[in-house]
Amino acid sequence: MLKYNVKSPNAMEFISHDEIMATLAWVDENKNNQALIRQIMQKADQKKGLEHREASLLLAGGDSNALFALAGKIKQEFYGNRVVLFAPLYLSNYCVNGCVYCPYNITNDTMPRKKLTQDEIRREVIALQDMGHKRLVIETGEHPKHSPIEYILESINTIYDTKHENGAIRRINVNIAATSVDEYRMLKSANIGTYILFQETYCEQTYKSIHPTGPKSDYSWHTEALDRAMQGGVDDVGIGALFGLTDYRYEFAGMLMHAEHLEAVYGVGPHTMSVPRIRRAQGIGTNNFAHGIDDETFARIVACLRISAPYTGIIVSTRESEECRRKVLDVGVSQISGGSRTSVGGYDHKQESDDRCEKNDTKQFEISDDRSLGEVVRWLIDIGYIPSFCTACYREGRVGDRFMELCKSGQIQNCCQPNALMTLQEYLLDYADADTIEAGEKLINREILTIPNEKMRTLVVDQLKKIKKGSRDFRV
Ligand code: SF4
Ligand code: SF4
Repeated sequence: MLKYNVKSPNAMEFISHDEIMATLAWVDENKNNQALIRQIMQKADQKKGLEHREASLLLAGGDSNALFALAGKIKQEFYGNRVVLFAPLYLSNYCVNGCVYCPYNITNDTMPRKKLTQDEIRREVIALQDMGHKRLVIETGEHPKHSPIEYILESINTIYDTKHENGAIRRINVNIAATSVDEYRMLKSANIGTYILFQETYCEQTYKSIHPTGPKSDYSWHTEALDRAMQGGVDDVGIGALFGLTDYRYEFAGMLMHAEHLEAVYGVGPHTMSVPRIRRAQGIGTNNFAHGIDDETFARIVACLRISAPYTGIIVSTRESEECRRKVLDVGVSQISGGSRTSVGGYDHKQESDDRCEKNDTKQFEISDDRSLGEVVRWLIDIGYIPSFCTACYREGRVGDRFMELCKSGQIQNCCQPNALMTLQEYLLDYADADTIEAGEKLINREILTIPNEKMRTLVVDQLKKIKKGSRDFRV
C-alpha cells in the first residue's frame, strides 16, 4: 500500500486514494459535530487557509449562509471588488487522446478538425482585441504533428506581436497537454503567464476509465505535470477538476491535496483553481456522467475553496449561466471569461459565420453565458464589481513565491484595485458604448476615493488623466 506523502514526487502518494477515502470517512463521522465545525470556521476566519480534511468537513457540514458570508468576507479582503476578465483562444482541435467527455477525442469522426494558421491566429487576436480583451488562455488538443511545441511557441509569438489600434494581448496563459520539463522551459522562455492543466478527475480508477487511450491515459504523467512545469521554471500554475466525472467530495479533497503538495514541495501553491462543471457537447451526453452537482453545491464548493486557499485565484468560465456566475462571484470567484467562443476560429467574423453551420461546428462544449464581453462588463459594473483587464503582476515580475508573499499578506490589493481602475478606463475609452462609459466613469470616480494610500490615489488620478489623453498601459 502506498503511504500518503504530501512531498512525494509520486502522484499516487501525494494524491493518495487511501487518504482521500480516510478523509471522506472522517467527514462522515463528524459532519454533525457542530463544535468541531465551529472551531474550523474560527480557524478559517484567521484567513490562513485550511487543510483538506478541515475544508472537506466544512463542505459536508457547514451552514451555507455562514460559509457564504465568510467566503464573501475573505474574498473582499484579498481581492476587493475587482473581477479579472479573460477569453479562451482555441488553436487546434486535432487530438490523439480518447477522453470520453470531450468531443475533440480521437474517435469522434463527426467532429470537423481545424488548426489555425498564423494568419488566422492574427485575425482571431484582432477580433479579441477589438472586443477589449488583454488576457487570453490558449487551448489545443494534443497532437504531435498538428500542435507540437514549436507550433505553440510560434503562436504565442504571433499573439504577443499582433497589435491592432490600441489593442494588445498582454498576458497569455497556456492550457495545453502535459509535457516534459524541457518543453515547460520553452514555454517559460516564451513569456507565458500561468500554465493551466485540469486534472479532470483525481480518482485514478475513474481517470483510467474515461481516458482509455492516448498519452493522457497515463494518470501519473498527467498528475505530476505541474511538478515538471515548476521544475522547468514556470512560476505560476493553475489546477482544476472537471466536476461531474466522479463524487465531487473526492475531487474537492484531491484538489486541495494537489495544492498542498505544490506548496509543500515548491513553497508556492497554485496560482489559480478552476472549477468547470461538465457540459453537453457534440456527441457527448451528460447522462453518461452520474455525478452532476446542483448550483447550491457548486456555490458551496467555491466558497469552501475560497476559505481554504484565500490567496489563490478562482476561475469560472462561461460554462456557467449568468445567474450562477453572479452567485459564485459573491462567494469567491476572482476571474471570469467573457464573450467566449469555444470553437477553433470562433472570433473572427468569417469563421464565426462558418461555425453557425452545424457541419463546421468545432465547439468543445456548449456555453451557458453567451453574452458579449461588453454585456459582461456592463453587468459587472451594475452589480458593483470593477471589471479588470489587469495583467500587471507577471509583467512586473510578481510571480511564484514573490506573488504569493504579497497575496498572503493581503498587500496585493494595493495593486489590484488601481490596476483595475486604470485598465477599465482604457476599456471605456477604446471599446465601450456610451451608456457603459457613463456607468464606468461613475464607478471609477467612486472607487478612486476608496484607495487607502494617498500617494497611490494621487498616482492613479494622474495616470487616469494621461489615459484620457491617449497614453496606455500604466500599471503598478
Ligand atoms: Fe484532447 Fe483535451 Fe479533449 Fe482530451 S480533453 S480529447 S486531451 S482536447
Ligand atoms: Fe491580478 Fe496582479 Fe493585476 Fe491583481 S495586480 S489583478 S493579482 S495581475
